[in-house]
Amino acid sequence: MTTLAAPSPSVRNPVFDELGFPKDPDNLYTQTCEVMLDACEMMGLPHRLKVILAQPMSEIMVHFPVRMDDGHHRLFKGYRVQHNNALGPFKGGIRFHPDVHLDDVKSLALLMTMKCSLVRIPYGGGKGGVKCDPRQLSADEVMRVSRRFCASLFRYIGPDYDIPAPDVNTNAQIMAWMADTYASLAENNKNTLDSMRVFTGKPVEIGGSLGREKATGQGVIDTILELLPALGFKGPEGLTFSLIGYGNVGSWAARIFATKHGAKMTAAMDHTGSILNEKGIDTEALAEHVAAHGGVAGFPSATAISTEEFYKTKVDILIPAALEQMIKEREANWINAKVIAEGANAPTTPSGDRALQKRGIEVIPAILANAGGVTVSYFEWVQNKTCTMWDIEEVDRKLNQHMVNAARRTLVARQRYGVDMRTAAYIAALDHIARAYAVRGIFP
Ligand code: NAD
Repeated sequence: MTTLAAPSPSVRNPVFDELGFPKDPDNLYTQTCEVMLDACEMMGLPHRLKVILAQPMSEIMVHFPVRMDDGHHRLFKGYRVQHNNALGPFKGGIRFHPDVHLDDVKSLALLMTMKCSLVRIPYGGGKGGVKCDPRQLSADEVMRVSRRFCASLFRYIGPDYDIPAPDVNTNAQIMAWMADTYASLAENNKNTLDSMRVFTGKPVEIGGSLGREKATGQGVIDTILELLPALGFKGPEGLTFSLIGYGNVGSWAARIFATKHGAKMTAAMDHTGSILNEKGIDTEALAEHVAAHGGVAGFPSATAISTEEFYKTKVDILIPAALEQMIKEREANWINAKVIAEGANAPTTPSGDRALQKRGIEVIPAILANAGGVTVSYFEWVQNKTCTMWDIEEVDRKLNQHMVNAARRTLVARQRYGVDMRTAAYIAALDHIARAYAVRGIFP
């Protein structure tokens, strides 16, 4: 694959001033929007589409009280952003994190619109979050936060309107509590299982899909495998990789890449530290260590290294699977990898992206690489809607089809427009949305 010239440091898009966007260049929403608007410009999309997609349809902010274990009540802040529903109901995860704020949730919602369109599932984009540190809460407190947040959102979500799922620090158990809360409040609660279709990523016992837990990590690897020839690799056997974040996405991607395809993980980093073993880190043993100790630090069969040493470790592929904006210009200049496969959402800032491009490092963008989770969420929703249950082989096969087709669509756009893979993925996604708007029109 040829390396493209880095885009020039961006000139502020006039749409930002028209819509009164903040001038802070580090604002995540402005950064996310900028990439989308650049793709719109290249495609010559109409101005009305640019302004519609540059702002979410609804931004919902709620405050809700929760009784803590010691008896006092604490007020929590939560968000749900519904970005666009031209292709279908809003869809996107809910995260629990102390740093959750509106601009981040807006960015993640916009990414969901692009992601769903790129993998051609009939959903729009949404995202939500609660500002809290679940590590500081007991299991009962997490349950009460989950249920109260769901109750606060009740009138804004629905199984055919807005369908949340897990994200950072939320999981199948939390989806179960939220789905149960929604079903208990629903007017049609004679049909509780249908009401529970409002959440995906549920436990299998209450309608969750087989394969959902590993789906995002699996999709990262399906995408990498499909793109290997275009990236100049012969096959996965013996490829080295490193990982940022060893949570749901990271640990599944690592285990599938290493155990099923013979790749070798040599370094990993998370909020507890960074570790290195040039001979290879046992991905299953590390998952057990993280489950027992809360992070990768202290893993016995590896050496502790600094963050800088982690980024400078030579690997074929680096998979960021933690939080947003981690790869800025400085980290991009440290990175010693041929390819970055974005398991996390928005892990690379525009200045980081420009530095990577200058250095000829290919980036498989998040809207492509991590679309496996929402794809299997869609499968869960279809199974719930049709009262069926697919076996794991069917889920994996259909997931692979969606990921492979999305990767091919991206390569076609890349070739046609002569752009980097991130812009190409946005173009492939926007093309589908633009066609939907062309036939739907804009009411009235
Ligand atoms: P998770 O909570 O399971 O894991 C998050 C990981 O990030 C943990 O390993 C944590 O240690 C690490 N981390 C947190 N702060 C860090 C820091 N400062 N430095 C290094 N590591 C840090 O979350 P997840 O579900 O695996 O999500 C990870 C990313 O993938 C997020 O960007 C999320 O939006 C995205 N994503 C998740 C899914 C999904 O299905 N879970 C789907 C698509 C995208």
